[in-house]
Amino acid sequence: MNISNLSRVLGSSARIVSGIQPTGIPHIGNYLGSLRQWTELQNSIPSNSSSQCFFFVADLHALTVPQVPQDFYQRRMDTLAILLSIGIDPQRSTLFFQSDVPYHTELNWLMGCHTPMGQLNRMTQWKSKLQLHEMDAVTFLNTNLASSGKFNLGLFSYPVLQAADILLYGATHIPVGKDQSQHIELTRTIARKINSTFKKELFIIPDIILNSSSSIMALKQPNKKMSKSDQNSKNYILLTDSEQDIRKKIAGAATDNIEGITYGDPNRPAINNLLNMTAAMTDSSPITIAEKFKHARHSEFKSSVADIMVGSITPFARSYQQWKANPSELQSIAENGAKKAMNQAFPFMKDFKNTFGLGP
Ligand code: ATP
Ligand code: MG
Repeated sequence: MNISNLSRVLGSSARIVSGIQPTGIPHIGNYLGSLRQWTELQNSIPSNSSSQCFFFVADLHALTVPQVPQDFYQRRMDTLAILLSIGIDPQRSTLFFQSDVPYHTELNWLMGCHTPMGQLNRMTQWKSKLQLHEMDAVTFLNTNLASSGKFNLGLFSYPVLQAADILLYGATHIPVGKDQSQHIELTRTIARKINSTFKKELFIIPDIILNSSSSIMALKQPNKKMSKSDQNSKNYILLTDSEQDIRKKIAGAATDNIEGITYGDPNRPAINNLLNMTAAMTDSSPITIAEKFKHARHSEFKSSVADIMVGSITPFARSYQQWKANPSELQSIAENGAKKAMNQAFPFMKDFKNTFGLGP
């Protein structure tokens, strides 16, 4: 399902669930490809609707790779501050830290006991992390690499935790990028299997809301995706970058040797990327923007792109600084969010445990 078809669903009783790892300040690619959709969904829910949004900082997922505890604590808080800055409203959405709601890990365990390892072994994210495309888990377990500690159980099994995150709140719709759709498919498979094992509709089977917008590419290397783990900070624009940084990064973005501005030529990945990000940010079409700048010099075009990015992003940065200056308010939002999430999840969890024989 596409976001534009959602208003019908949001009018009734949809439950939207999505999380973000606290692995760094999001960049414009994360925003346009994922986070902006969160605020759009939240804001599209009519006031008389019983639809709900659950957004969380997926801190447990980030622990599948080593983290420095003090830095990690701060990054969690920064991620919460960013979500608030872009417009996630704790009055309208349930906003919380995943680790503050222990039901996530409890459900993860119960579901893990019903998840065949072979299914996890087919996840392309796991395979690409291993860079062992040709090797299956059993072969892998006999390699020195498997004993090295680089690949831990959490990295292998985190799709089960992701499934628990979603199913715990009875999600009906999950907004995701293409890279995560296989995990949502796995969520649906495990949910169906458990429903069928216990002959009971324990889980709602969620639908995917796929974000089909173009990926935003690295500014200096437009043939690879913009990514927050990029070593070169000139390749990305963070939501907290200053006006000066944004202008510098766009002025330094790659272009090409072709005069004027056109859209869609496969030989012009840099120009296509600047057009895509400008169009996405202004909800317009890259073709229309290209037409407007068709005779412009590259520098003139980039200067307009910079104006648009500065105008769109710097309000987030300002709001972010205000939230950062108020850690006790952030703490209290997180506590209230966790309480709300716990209350929502409790009846489901109780029934689910009873089904397993863990209660009457
Ligand atoms: P990392 O380098 O740590 O993998 P990342 O920048 O690729 O970070 P993710 O945390 O992997 O970001 O992705 C978060 C969300 O942002 C996902 O839904 C993903 O689809 C989306 N996303 C990431 N990069 C881009 C991009 N360049 N363009 C559009 N969407 C993106
Ligand atoms: Mg990524």
